[in-house]
Amino acid sequence: MADRLPILAFHDLKGDHSAIAFPPDLFRRFMLKLHQQGYRTMSLLEAINHLRLKKPFPERSFVITFDDGYESVYEEAFPVLQDCGMTATIFLTLGGKGKVTSGERLPAIEGRSMLNWQEILEMKQWGVTLGAHTLTHPDLTRLPPDRMEAEIRDSKEIIEDILGTPIACFAYPYGRYDDRSHRLVQQHFACACSDDLGLVTLKGDPFALKRVDAYYLRTEKRFKLMWTGLFPCYIRALSIPRGIRRFVQNGLR
Ligand SMILES: [Zn+2]
Repeated sequence: MADRLPILAFHDLKGDHSAIAFPPDLFRRFMLKLHQQGYRTMSLLEAINHLRLKKPFPERSFVITFDDGYESVYEEAFPVLQDCGMTATIFLTLGGKGKVTSGERLPAIEGRSMLNWQEILEMKQWGVTLGAHTLTHPDLTRLPPDRMEAEIRDSKEIIEDILGTPIACFAYPYGRYDDRSHRLVQQHFACACSDDLGLVTLKGDPFALKRVDAYYLRTEKRFKLMWTGLFPCYIRALSIPRGIRRFVQNGLR
């Protein structure tokens, strides 16, 4: 049994150099390798159950999350998840409260193509969990109370209406939260992901779950750390002062 659990945070699976892009071919190799090494995914809600019961996580388990809901999650990641028998949670940004039809894509974010509801439904039926990531992807910490509440509550209700299933997981846009949003999210959800870098421990806060952004795993050398036992050291190293971090990262390039 393990006392720490990695929650990996992906965004768009693209080969570009943006900080939110992760190369699709690397994603496939990464997941196949993890699968061969005996790694298994947990759903976010299973992970939360372990936190609540203070029950250690199964050895070699991890959680996959995708923020925003890019089309590439269906095109690139979903076939890999199916091949490896893995599950994931996708946090959807709805782009507003507008009416939707099943074939229509969610409004693009910075020119990046998003999922449509047919794709979302197909992934849900296969066992992928859907979560909320607000209506318009604001920095919640800068919003007045009524708008903050609408962004959090309405995004949950709209997804529930369309999919006909309770939505229990939330991710803070940009990973940013404050006392108000942290409190509010607890009224509507069972858990919430932040972008705070780290592995989840049994003492972790289910409403400010730490994650490892895939940005830190964008080379073979780095993602291999997942199964060499050095992963916790690497993640700790990323939180130390920049000079030392650069030294560690240079060694991993
Ligand atoms: Zn986001």
